[in-house]
Amino acid sequence: MGAPQIPKRQMAMVVEKTGQPVVFKEIDVQEPGPDEVLINIKYSGVCHTDLHAVNGDWPLDTKLPLVGGHEGAGVVVARGSNVTDVEIGDHAGVKWINGTCLACDFCQQSDEPLCSKALLSGYTVDGTFQQYCIAKAAHIARLHKDIALDAVAPVLCAGITVYKALKESGARPGQTVAIVGAGGGLGSLAQQYAKAMGLRTIAIDTGDDKKKMCTEQLGSYAFIDFAKSQNLVKDVQAATEDGLGPHAVVLVAVNEKPFQQAAEYVRPRGTVVCVGLPAGAYLRAPVFETVIKMVTIKGSYVGNRKDSAEALEFFRRGVIKAPFQVVGLSELQMIYDKMQQGAIAGRYVVDTSK
Ligand code: NAD
Ligand code: ZN
Repeated sequence: MGAPQIPKRQMAMVVEKTGQPVVFKEIDVQEPGPDEVLINIKYSGVCHTDLHAVNGDWPLDTKLPLVGGHEGAGVVVARGSNVTDVEIGDHAGVKWINGTCLACDFCQQSDEPLCSKALLSGYTVDGTFQQYCIAKAAHIARLHKDIALDAVAPVLCAGITVYKALKESGARPGQTVAIVGAGGGLGSLAQQYAKAMGLRTIAIDTGDDKKKMCTEQLGSYAFIDFAKSQNLVKDVQAATEDGLGPHAVVLVAVNEKPFQQAAEYVRPRGTVVCVGLPAGAYLRAPVFETVIKMVTIKGSYVGNRKDSAEALEFFRRGVIKAPFQVVGLSELQMIYDKMQQGAIAGRYVVDTSK
């Protein structure tokens, strides 16, 4: 077997201007720098973060033109001169954290997502909606060859992120966690990780499809439809055995409202973990109840390399199964249109060969 043939040109989905549809076009294949690898992306998950990048609705500018995507799974086809621990032919994943300085306070204490020099795949550097993508060798996800590259793609952001958020929640086996935005990409994986970690889940989202998926496929014992509930706070508390509310809440919704409600229904001593990033949103909590219930409210942002390896190991063992649909890369705009309407149950994955 000789070295892989790397073409000079490739197909990609490009954001040329913020707020406009993505364009399917041919672009150059880049060469990896000394500490980088080039990965032939086979599949990439589509995260709501990619839609935030297209819409330009966060207070952080993207590069332009931009190739989005940060849940890419594929095969290493080239490596820089300083890379010695990754082989050509290895299976690898490109995550949101494409690279960090590895030297600052945060990198030293394994909080590399907090590195001020972090490169973000599909946001500040080109990501995985192309056939050949570059990442820093130190940060790629190492994938066993027995892992299916299509099914693992959503784990590379959504899976890692919710696994980390569940750890940050401090919830212990047997306790109850409310997953808010349960029918989406992060939410569906959150229920599976929670189950694997011995936690019970209450799913909050809307629509009968999502209800069916959450209760029949993903393991939640209750589903609360936020669009139908007359009093969400009461309904969530009533779904817990003693009526005192869930021990933790993981917020992965893309609207502000649930971020204003969670502190009201979480159990005394409970923890609210904010993960979703709705544009321009603010948190709100009643000071009186927050104090006398000793509520903790915190943020959680992707995961470090160890969280990533742990989340991937759960997946490799076969205990994480979340629904996903595969379509060609050229259909990315259709996915964004559905995502904007909240009409996706689970995750879409794109096949970069189509
Ligand atoms: P998604 O579009 O797949 O799912 C979002 C879900 O939220 C949908 O099912 C929608 O119906 C639901 N929702 C909307 N309003 C709601 C409400 N009022 N109550 C309950 N549910 C509601 O999105 P996703 O890919 O799962 O991403 C979710 C969010 O997480 C995005 O804002 C994304 O940018 C963010 N994110 C954060 C991190 C992090 O590290 N903190 C990592 C990845 C993604
Ligand atoms: Zn993501």
